[in-house]
Amino acid sequence: MASRRNFLEKLTVSAVGLPLLYHSNPLFAVTEAPYQGPVLKVAIMGLGSYGTRVAEAMKDCKRAKLVGVISGTPSKIKDWQAKYDIPKKNCYNYENFDAIKDNKDIDAVYVITPNGLHKDQSIRVAKAGKHVICEKPMAVNADEAQEMVDACKAAKVHLLIGYRMHYEPKTVEVIKMRQNGEFGKVKFFQGQSGFTIGDPNQWRLNKELAGGGAMMDIGIYSINGARYMLGEEPIWVTAQETKTDPIKFKEGVDETIQFQLGFPSGAVANCLSTYNMSHLDRFFMTGSEGWVEMKPSTGYGPIKGRTHKGELDQPHITHQTLQMDGMSQLIFEGVQPIVPLDGEEGLKDMKIIDAIYRAVETGGKVAINL
Ligand code: NAD
Repeated sequence: MASRRNFLEKLTVSAVGLPLLYHSNPLFAVTEAPYQGPVLKVAIMGLGSYGTRVAEAMKDCKRAKLVGVISGTPSKIKDWQAKYDIPKKNCYNYENFDAIKDNKDIDAVYVITPNGLHKDQSIRVAKAGKHVICEKPMAVNADEAQEMVDACKAAKVHLLIGYRMHYEPKTVEVIKMRQNGEFGKVKFFQGQSGFTIGDPNQWRLNKELAGGGAMMDIGIYSINGARYMLGEEPIWVTAQETKTDPIKFKEGVDETIQFQLGFPSGAVANCLSTYNMSHLDRFFMTGSEGWVEMKPSTGYGPIKGRTHKGELDQPHITHQTLQMDGMSQLIFEGVQPIVPLDGEEGLKDMKIIDAIYRAVETGGKVAINL
């Protein structure tokens, strides 16, 4: 009897963890009721390296499905049609994709093109009456981001930004711990985001297509991270730029920027964004009662981290699978992630990036009004 109760207790505990185990545990996969709710039908625009990662991750989604593509390269469209079973009627190019408005089989378009193209492409998608999912950075400055927010509001469609960390289990756990006061009064965040960029001819080093340099691409993780880890919005920034290779990192393309953010509570963040140093993917936060270190903190995972209480042991689930299922739930059921990822959230990061660039230019403290 005792051992049976023991068994049942264990089973109950396991069942509590069911949602997090369903991808990896065949025993529970069998017992889980098949999903019968709405499925978000998504077309991906921009079939590059991240678009491919999202498409692969979506194979495991139950609430979202890849059904269409938008690309300027006919051979890629053909490959994707074969690989993901995409019908010809759901294939578009950059000239004709406005016609997507007449396609009832597509609910949302995921814009995964170079940053400088996001604004115009997202607005065209909104005008076609489809929900917009747009990669980070959502635009190349706050004015553009505001235009996107306005256009999506006017078209009554969702605008969601690809902030995959907002669904990542260890990140979510740390945010919950902070919300529950387990770190006490949080006072300091450190974010280090960077890698050594290769090919000097890629769009990421072209001001017009990238909108800037490392800050737009990777520094944004420390900006967004400072905000979700501390749970506050910054009110000032100071920033310093270092450029060691002005040939590779031309005018307007930042190589390395260190920046400091101040928050209303008195908490501060000290961050580094770079395209010219390796192995920089680390968050650290400390408060009056505890601390957390995450390293890697925003890569594709597994994310690793520990707090004053020990190792974080939440499971690794492909970030983009969780994100796309989560976005579907948000659109159909209004279920919000622990931290928002709508256009307004993206706009805040763009306002901070604008302020960081201004702080670099002026060498002074720049006020931020979010
Ligand atoms: P990529 O170069 O691999 O792919 C970009 C795609 O856009 C290519 O298919 C390319 O053909 C297409 N494209 C369309 N018009 C273009 C033009 N005028 N110039 C160049 N390419 C053009 O880049 P990527 O790494 O897939 O990045 C795409 C977007 O995704 C960026 O905004 C980036 O910041 C974002 N991204 C996000 C994550 C994340 O973890 N959330 C990771 C990587 C990239």
